[in-house]
Amino acid sequence: MHVADPQRYGALPFRRAGRSGLDLPAISLGLWQNFGDADPHERRRDVVLHAFDRGITHLDLANNYGPPPGAAEEALGRILARDLRPYRDELLLSTKAGYDMWPGPYGSGGSRKYLLASLDQSLARLGTDHVDLFYSHRFDPTTPLEETLGALRTAVDSGRARYVGISSYSAHRTQQALAVAADLGLTLTVHQPAYSMLNRWIERPDPMAGDRSLLDVVGGAGLGAVVFSPLAQGMLTGRYLDGIPAGSRAARGGSLRREFLTEENLAHVRALAAIAADRGQTLAQLAIAWALRDPRVTSVLLGASSVGQLDENLAALDGPALTAPDLDRIDEHAVE
Ligand code: NDP
Repeated sequence: MHVADPQRYGALPFRRAGRSGLDLPAISLGLWQNFGDADPHERRRDVVLHAFDRGITHLDLANNYGPPPGAAEEALGRILARDLRPYRDELLLSTKAGYDMWPGPYGSGGSRKYLLASLDQSLARLGTDHVDLFYSHRFDPTTPLEETLGALRTAVDSGRARYVGISSYSAHRTQQALAVAADLGLTLTVHQPAYSMLNRWIERPDPMAGDRSLLDVVGGAGLGAVVFSPLAQGMLTGRYLDGIPAGSRAARGGSLRREFLTEENLAHVRALAAIAADRGQTLAQLAIAWALRDPRVTSVLLGASSVGQLDENLAALDGPALTAPDLDRIDEHAVE
């Protein structure tokens, strides 16, 4: 059994998710990558235990994280059972359902049948009777929102989830989801969208939402934003400035496509790295501090393939405040 660092609280700030009563660490850890069956278990365990020792209480999962799908939940289930059992109530565990999980019509999307079966499977893999946060992973245009959100309500009412949220819904779909949730008497606590210095879609007006941005909709409704891929999957770090290193996400193939590492995009990354250097910090640290500058962002949800990366990223919170000229320089480099 792991003995957690007695100093784990105090250094990493907690931020309130919107108008809820829930606090999240400013930095959360996601297990999308580096937690598959092929990844050494000792490394997976080291990263999770180190995160917890540094105050990262929030661990983010989805049914399909692996590979194979389910492997990340199983890996965390092992760590919870062997190392973190006494600490379950200090942890904020989230999972999601929405993308392809098993064959046939009931293994993907937003139906009640899929969401609740998937949640039960997630609980079994994690070896816990509830998750703290359960998400609809994506908007499903073929299923009424009443059904998808009704399933989230059942997840809460049945005790399988403490809070619920939605992920990657546009501003317009979020407005619709909020209206349906109000009719159902359901509180949505968080929205999980992608957000980084390169990808600023959540700031842009959505014509379908009366020109309001997702951040405006989320902030106005009192939800917290838990933003994923703040390091643009590693692009907003020093990782790719001198080519594609062996073992990196881009070298392994998959979610960070080599095609994205164009000279044009890397020129933006280099310019942002120069801004970070002027501020006396690394590019990863600048990317994290930048994403947290907006109070509607409750937590940045990052990945790490080593304890060293985590430590570098946590030091983002010790850097200098962002100035107006810094922000102006950064504004020149959004690519999505
Ligand atoms: P990041 O943008 O934080 O990318 C993380 C990757 O960047 C690491 O795996 C590592 O890559 C590299 N990295 C991290 N820190 C450093 C560092 N200090 N120096 C050099 N390289 C570094 O986030 P992810 O894309 O991993 O996403 C984070 C989480 O967000 C996921 O785990 C998941 O929980 C969630 N998510 C949710 C989605 C949704 O649809 N709701 C979609 C995608 C993610 P390497 O492996 O090369 O070392």
